[in-house]
Amino acid sequence: MKFGFDIDDTLINLREHAFHLYNKKLKQTVGIDVFQNISSVEIHEAFGISDDEGKEMWNSSLEEIYYTSCPIFPGAVEALHTLTRAGHEVYYITARPKEHGERTKAWMQQQGFPVDDSRFFYGMQDEEKLDIINQLELDYYIDDKPVVLETLRNSTTKVYVKDQSYNRHLQDIPRVVDWTTFVKSILNKNK
Ligand SMILES: [Mg+2]
Repeated sequence: MKFGFDIDDTLINLREHAFHLYNKKLKQTVGIDVFQNISSVEIHEAFGISDDEGKEMWNSSLEEIYYTSCPIFPGAVEALHTLTRAGHEVYYITARPKEHGERTKAWMQQQGFPVDDSRFFYGMQDEEKLDIINQLELDYYIDDKPVVLETLRNSTTKVYVKDQSYNRHLQDIPRVVDWTTFVKSILNKNK
């Protein structure tokens, strides 16, 4: 089977990583409890800055956000290896900007993810992910972002949401809370 994965905040804990960087850069000490309750994908509100300032902060911090020590969600690397070892295909579909695509691929490989060059897609808009997912005829796709998940409601691909504070209103989409548990249950289901 073909499994597609978003990267940021699906396989790796990017927002939380950025949250710590923002605290440092803005010389603030906003608590992690605040982070855990942010109801939007964007994190700048917690620091009392405007949408424009938040956008500017995000874009000017991309280098650090993307390529420093962003933590990977527990079990994610091993879960994807479990899939490839079982003969399944693993695809990555990230809306990271085009100019960051190849470096992101290399970064993912350095972190130990199983990455096949021809199965790594980047640089599309959120709403364009749907086209790639359909073209690839993915059996499963997992993402964290409500706007992406909403476009996939009528897709034949089985869609899962990576559990996050800002997507809990999507109650009718099955959730990935833990990667090890998810892969175990999927493989059991398809035995
Ligand atoms: Mg994401």
